[in-house]
Amino acid sequence: MTQVDKEQVQVAKDYVEKLFNKVVEKNPGEEEFHQAVKEVLDSLVPAIAKNPTYMKQAILDRMVEPERLLTFRVPWVDDKGNIQVNRGFRVQFNSAIGPYKGGLRFHPSVNASIIKFLGFEQMFKNSLTGQPIGAGKGGSDFDPKGKSDLEIMRFCQSFMTELSRHIGPNTDVPAGDIGVGAREIGYLFGQYKKLRGAYEAGVLTGKAVGYGGSLGRKEATGYGTVYFVDEMLKAQGLSFNGSTVVVSGSGNVSIYAMEKAMELGAKVVACSDSSGYIHDPNGINLDTVKQLKEVESKRIYEYVDIHPEATFVDEFSKIWSIPCDIALPCATQNELNKEAADTLIANGVKAVGEGANMPSTYDAVNAFLANNVLFAPAKAANAGGVAVSALEMAQNSQRLSWTVEEVDGKLKEIMKDIYQASVQASEEYGTPGNLVAGANIAGFTKVADAMVAQGVI
Ligand code: GLU
Repeated sequence: MTQVDKEQVQVAKDYVEKLFNKVVEKNPGEEEFHQAVKEVLDSLVPAIAKNPTYMKQAILDRMVEPERLLTFRVPWVDDKGNIQVNRGFRVQFNSAIGPYKGGLRFHPSVNASIIKFLGFEQMFKNSLTGQPIGAGKGGSDFDPKGKSDLEIMRFCQSFMTELSRHIGPNTDVPAGDIGVGAREIGYLFGQYKKLRGAYEAGVLTGKAVGYGGSLGRKEATGYGTVYFVDEMLKAQGLSFNGSTVVVSGSGNVSIYAMEKAMELGAKVVACSDSSGYIHDPNGINLDTVKQLKEVESKRIYEYVDIHPEATFVDEFSKIWSIPCDIALPCATQNELNKEAADTLIANGVKAVGEGANMPSTYDAVNAFLANNVLFAPAKAANAGGVAVSALEMAQNSQRLSWTVEEVDGKLKEIMKDIYQASVQASEEYGTPGNLVAGANIAGFTKVADAMVAQGVI
């Protein structure tokens, strides 16, 4: 590094540090949002140092401020006739490269910090897919657990009554996330259609296949995570075949990550839900997990009644104490902390692939990187879901449906491209092997250049 280079790096470091302090000051108490911003800003230093235009154009200052944050009241009537009130959110984070795009999460933990961290991450993730999609995210602190089907429907209708004013196939296209699957998307779509008086199929993605959904969308996030990790393993002469895998969660991402890992010859020995984890040393029976979770909406501990050779532990975060070659955190944010990372490392983990959004804490990520564990960060590794959402939008615009082979083939290519773009950026910017930095820089550059081109808006 020349003296000039060193000075530029220092200037960039000072700039991002100052900006981060400003973000903390302006968004008090929003810890998850701070965490997501910090990880990105730290890794962007080399890109900012090399392209001072981004600093002059205040690109990062603009990126950390959502274009729009909406919060709204969601009143609904429960089965007993009582009026309930929840809070709804939609953050429209960035529209430089396409309409706002990102899921809706229904979970009691949802607040402005969670929605903003997710919307911020979506910006880089969506850019990495190579598809023309901006970044948004939304949801509610509504807890779907224990609610009847009619309660879910009434909640979704009330939520959409307000949200419908702010979305559209060319402005903002929500989809699912935790607590929002095909059933909820159906109720949301029905209400949107009724309010608009028009069939705008492309306003939501993750629809059922019979009315505008894409084949392969349901599987896309989990499959995509495994495709990405497979690329990362192959580059080191490793593979899923014969490896022992632990996958946290048992929702949509987790189930299809397990399915694809098994198809590639791995033995998946554990999965979890918020009640705890199951460990089946002979290999998880995925049909049982699908029946319990996708059909009966039951808790994961029921698995051991059907498969007595498996054990259940009522602390889901302890799943990382099970020795494995590959760990796929697919449950939720900050589910894997430094202590869990140290245990995985001590047990010889070779690769970690993030299927959930920000599942590893900041310290855990750094522990993996420092110990040369192959690490696939969420923004890259779980981009398959939103990528196929973009393919669903494309099919809706064409009024055509593609075959599952076509969609899956495109997904595989997209995941390969994301892997290559991340590797290339990590090498170009002096952090070879660090896919966290590589993915952030590759995702950032495209959005930043579009913002520069479009002026100060
Ligand atoms: N919620 C998913 C994500 O975190 C999918 C979003 C979408 O399909 O728009 O990327």
